[in-house]
Amino acid sequence: MKRPTVVVLGAGYGGLSVITKLQKLISADDADIILVNKNDYHYETTWLHEASAGTMHHNKVRYDIGGVLDKGKVTFVKASVENIDTAAQKVITDRSEIAYDHLVVGLGFEGETFGIPGLKEHAFSIANIKAARQIREHIEYQFATYSLEEVKDPSRLTIIVGGAGFTGIEFLGELGERIPELCEEYDINPKAVRLLCVEAAPMVLPGFDKELVDYAVSYLESKGIEFSIGTPVVEATPEGVKIKKGEDVFEEIKANTVVWAAGVRGNAVIEKAGFENMRARIKVDPDLRAPGHNNVFIVGDCALMINPEIDRPYPPTAQIAMQQGAHVAHNIAAMLKGEELEPFTPSLKGTVCSLGGNEAIGEVFGRKITGKRAAIMKKVIDNRALLIIGGPGLVFKKGKLNMI
Ligand code: FAD
Ligand code: NAD
Repeated sequence: MKRPTVVVLGAGYGGLSVITKLQKLISADDADIILVNKNDYHYETTWLHEASAGTMHHNKVRYDIGGVLDKGKVTFVKASVENIDTAAQKVITDRSEIAYDHLVVGLGFEGETFGIPGLKEHAFSIANIKAARQIREHIEYQFATYSLEEVKDPSRLTIIVGGAGFTGIEFLGELGERIPELCEEYDINPKAVRLLCVEAAPMVLPGFDKELVDYAVSYLESKGIEFSIGTPVVEATPEGVKIKKGEDVFEEIKANTVVWAAGVRGNAVIEKAGFENMRARIKVDPDLRAPGHNNVFIVGDCALMINPEIDRPYPPTAQIAMQQGAHVAHNIAAMLKGEELEPFTPSLKGTVCSLGGNEAIGEVFGRKITGKRAAIMKKVIDNRALLIIGGPGLVFKKGKLNMI
């Protein structure tokens, strides 16, 4: 009898958690497992703000997917997924079509622009390693060009970050470290640089603990970062952004660098494939299957789950993506044995937000932490993801081992 084929799309936190768990749970005779990813490397999405600011080289952020696979059980296909034909049970990629019996979709997120004009064309997004590399290069080019211009253009040294969510704040924290280095390297007076964060909501990190938010804001302000709060970006142009400061009151700010960090949506493939979705995320069944599709599981940022305690979606995080991945591996192993599937409940440990260098804020197991303690905790969390997917060897190779 032909072995069933399990196809996993995406080698991010969700997809790799499925693979590395499933390869331990089943034997090579139980199923053919195929992993499809557009690159032959995995990147730590949770470190992309560091690569974008240039405080960490992008090669440190990525590792070879082959190194974590059991090649006797898993075949890796480097290809870009273009569509999924659920009726024909096949995945269409830029290179070939791949038939499946069981499918896991873990294609991650894309930046959400909410239809705001000009953002797609004129703003950067910390979306993947190539985008991070481009942001770093672009900022450095602005500094290099400013240093040799006869007539100085201040917008070269103006960086606007749209959104003061966790991504925006972590990126600003890294810029707080990187900008003084760039000023020194290009002989630029730090006073000529303007770092501005524009947030639509009435506070930074909306919904997070106020005491911790105040700590973060005053630390980032001490690094020269300005905040414009309650002032949504309404347009991006080749010259900068337009923000709304009140009823019919708008301000245009000139900036050569606009980084959009104001929210995420799921992967466009979800919409293309015709799944019922909300902003390219599928509201999954309790066992993490797509409604109406008994052989399709969704993990990570493409999955939407409601937190019954507050009747709102869980935020899309690596923490949940990895737990979902491990759970789906168990459910697929159960399915292959004809056993019942288990419902998934996330186990939330807390949130730590880096502020750059040795500074961070966080709430872990219900306790608030700040400063060096929080920064160490963030590194522990970052290393834990490597440990779970690749074991101690990967931690030694890629981990953040310098804790202080
Ligand atoms: P990803 O990890 O994004 O992986 C998706 C994979 O699919 C990638 O390998 C990609 O190359 C591949 N792919 C995409 N499209 C295709 C295609 N068409 N064909 C083939 N392959 C494709 N969460 C936390 O819990 N803690 C944090 O500290 C944290 N920090 C963050 C910092 C930043 C800067 C950002 C942007 C996010 C952060 N998050 C954090 C959120 C977290 O990174 C995401 O929730 C998590 O990456 C989602 O995992 P995933 O597996 O769904 O997708
Ligand atoms: P987010 O949705 O959490 O934050 C986006 C921010 O942009 C919000 O504060 C929102 O009010 C603001 N915004 C929306 N429209 C705007 C506009 N027009 N103008 C100005 N501001 C606008 O998105 P994110 O920060 O990209 O985070 C995405 C996910 O990744 C979240 O689930 C987050 O928890 C997770 N994440 C976690 C960490 C961490 O745990 N350290 C770090 C980064 C991201």
